Amino acid sequence: MAKQVIQHQCSFCKRVINVRDQYDLPIYDPNTGFAICKNCVREVNHFLDEHEAAAVQEEKHEFADQLDDILDKNKPHLIKQYLDEYIINQDRAKKILSVAVYNHYKRMKYGYQNDAETEIEKSNVIMLGPSGCGKTALLSHLAKLLDIPFAVTDASSLTEAGFVGADVEVAVRNLYYAADKDVEKAEHGIIYLDEFDKIARKSGANNSITADPGHEGVQQALLKMLEGSVVEFTARGQRKHPEAPTIKVDTKNILFIVGGAFVGIEDVIGKRLSKASSIGFGATVQGADEKPKFDELIHKVRPEDLMQYGIIPEIIGRLPVICTLETLDEDALLRS
Ligand SMILES: [Zn+2]
Repeated sequence: MAKQVIQHQCSFCKRVINVRDQYDLPIYDPNTGFAICKNCVREVNHFLDEHEAAAVQEEKHEFADQLDDILDKNKPHLIKQYLDEYIINQDRAKKILSVAVYNHYKRMKYGYQNDAETEIEKSNVIMLGPSGCGKTALLSHLAKLLDIPFAVTDASSLTEAGFVGADVEVAVRNLYYAADKDVEKAEHGIIYLDEFDKIARKSGANNSITADPGHEGVQQALLKMLEGSVVEFTARGQRKHPEAPTIKVDTKNILFIVGGAFVGIEDVIGKRLSKASSIGFGATVQGADEKPKFDELIHKVRPEDLMQYGIIPEIIGRLPVICTLETLDEDALLRS
């Protein structure tokens, strides 16, 4: 018996659609007799893709157009002035951060112009300073001034993929939520990884040799993200499984700032300086008026000290800006 062929006519292109089996079925509404052939569906699909892509492109350009204005309004000395209104002391840190943020936007501008000649290195920052010295406050005021999303993630809560705990992608997810789930906004925000010293490799000079394979793995996992990559994560509360819908955020233009108290790094710095000069540093007995040893030595920190402390060289290479802060004294606290 011959298979029954039903015919429809496409309401758009008027082509006759022969329906031999379920795979031939067009979009068809039996109530109105309205049908759309596969060709026309494909056309519509293509149309939507093109328009959406164009809209995204336009939005990107919108931000690029704002960049001149942002750069003009946020020259380093103006950022510094603004920070002075809210945070006292830490002059050095404020200057370094102001320049780093300014360069970050300049880099973005050249990126949008596809200007390979003037490509600037990403100015990710590592902040070293005792807890309570104003690291987070500095950064949140900075983000407020620039009107960009800002999210703090505790680096010590992160684990290597496959271990129990939060994957490194959580840092980007937190920023996405800080940006009210606006991917475009999140892609120009600031991620602060607090307690970064807690993920130092345990074989670093400052730590005992207790086995702790996870920390180096977390640092490795953070590498690509710091440099710029598309990070994929599931929505909050969504269990991770292969079919779970994901959100993608490109970290290319996200400014990463990592920070921590780095307790004991002053000893690493002191040792290096002593070796170099054969004058004992930090060996002096601390008098009542003297600065704590940390404050005395922290501004002399070098990448090799961070390596000695247990931060892997690849990470140090992606944190070109070192920002050091001193202990806030009581007077400073009273004024704030
Ligand atoms: Zn058609």
